[in-house]
Amino acid sequence: MNVLIKEKAIFQKVKEIGKQINADYENKNPILVGVLKGAFVFLADLLREIEIPVEVDFLSISSYNGKESSGVVRLTNDLSLNIEDRDVILIEDIVDTGRTVSYIIKNLKTRKPTSLVVCTLLNKKEDRIIEVPLTYIGFDIPGVFVVGYGLDYLNRYRNLKYIGVINGK
Ligand code: 5GP
Repeated sequence: MNVLIKEKAIFQKVKEIGKQINADYENKNPILVGVLKGAFVFLADLLREIEIPVEVDFLSISSYNGKESSGVVRLTNDLSLNIEDRDVILIEDIVDTGRTVSYIIKNLKTRKPTSLVVCTLLNKKEDRIIEVPLTYIGFDIPGVFVVGYGLDYLNRYRNLKYIGVINGK
């Protein structure tokens, strides 16, 4: 495994994003919506950097089979909270082609949130097919397949404390 982003760098970045959210949402009560499964580690760490009143919910999306995106995005588990008239921060592990986030934004907007922004730990700009607005970005990374810190390859490697690239992949 090659390390692309070290644990310490992730820790620092998550702290920074948390600070920014605290400032941007002062006197508000946003809902963090995590996209399962990949975003759960990032969300858990980010949540603990947030000092304003905050709520958490999750949704599940399916589109990837191993390393290849099928291109077809499906909502496999919906939110349990009502997001109408609420400030929503969508928490993603990684934005690649933009298909997943674009699908989720469209879906959530129909529920009339007050505001909806995207926070992603990783951004693979060069693979973008659909432009999506990203308000909080942890790291811009090259178009390589990464694992760790919640991200998997065939359900493995989510437990790594760093972001890595599997040798020979
Ligand atoms: P997009 O729809 O933007 O192409 O892809 C977003 C989703 O694809 C992410 O939420 C993630 O589940 C998966 N994905 C994209 N790139 C990678 C990657 O390099 N590694 C892993 N593990 N998943 C990825």
